[in-house]
Amino acid sequence: MEFVTQLGELRDRRAALPGAVGLVPTMGALHQGHAALVEQARRECAHVVVTIFVNPLQFGPSEDFTRYPRRMEEDRELLEGLGVDIVFAPEATEMFPQPPDIIVEPAVLGRYFEGERRPGHFRGVATVVLKLLNAVQPEHAYFGQKDAQQLAIIQRLALDLNIATKIHACATVREADGLALSSRNVYLSETERHAAPNLVAALREVVTRLGEGESDVTRVLAGARQRLAPLREDYLGVVDPAKFEPLRTAPPGMSLVAVGAAFAGATRLIDNLTVQTPAEREMVKR
Ligand code: AMP
Repeated sequence: MEFVTQLGELRDRRAALPGAVGLVPTMGALHQGHAALVEQARRECAHVVVTIFVNPLQFGPSEDFTRYPRRMEEDRELLEGLGVDIVFAPEATEMFPQPPDIIVEPAVLGRYFEGERRPGHFRGVATVVLKLLNAVQPEHAYFGQKDAQQLAIIQRLALDLNIATKIHACATVREADGLALSSRNVYLSETERHAAPNLVAALREVVTRLGEGESDVTRVLAGARQRLAPLREDYLGVVDPAKFEPLRTAPPGMSLVAVGAAFAGATRLIDNLTVQTPAEREMVKR
């Protein structure tokens, strides 16, 4: 496994890889969710490139950029064991020698939910993902369904900007009690960790009720909200994953996504679940 920190060296080493390349962009502090992405890339591509970059552009001024967990040695060991060909772990000055003048700004897809709560976040994500795609020029790139709005934006980025890389979505990896794995879970105290699965419990309730044919999203969300305490809600919503706009009514026969964010103490958790609404004639009469 090559460990590379300079863009020039990355280009040279990538050019020397003969077969299809799969890219897995990460911010490090790797867990089994990241490992699942790498394993999928390993199965589907001749070579795998993983990037580890805590991207300053996607953190707001009051967010956890400086204290975001960094565990380079453990990450390298894990990736070596997974058979990764190249790890690209640049310093911020390598990726951004000067503040960028040209940026990628999602419009509607970044307007609500994470985009509303974290102004500038998706601009930072889309800009850095485009830079990484340009630097690595992979045939395939792998992203987690865990960050569903980010995934939707990256799929659209590829479409709108004629990027040839095929974007793959990977299922969310969870703890036994349902909590989605996240590098930020290390921030949780024992009590907060105990309460953290309430977020997925609330989302499961949304999935169940919409799956039963209930279409009043506002009412469904009000019910689901009851399950969050002692977590503090940031948002709960239901969206068409191609649009990421809050829905009030769930259309029949649609694949929708229930999204949520909540605070466990100072730690912000996000999660989502896919829900298939029944076709009209199958709907339960209430
Ligand atoms: P991050 O390091 O948090 O930026 O995540 C890097 C990639 O891993 C993103 O595409 C995430 O969506 C994905 N990811 C993070 N957590 C999980 C998880 N629990 N299951 C699957 N993918 C994940």
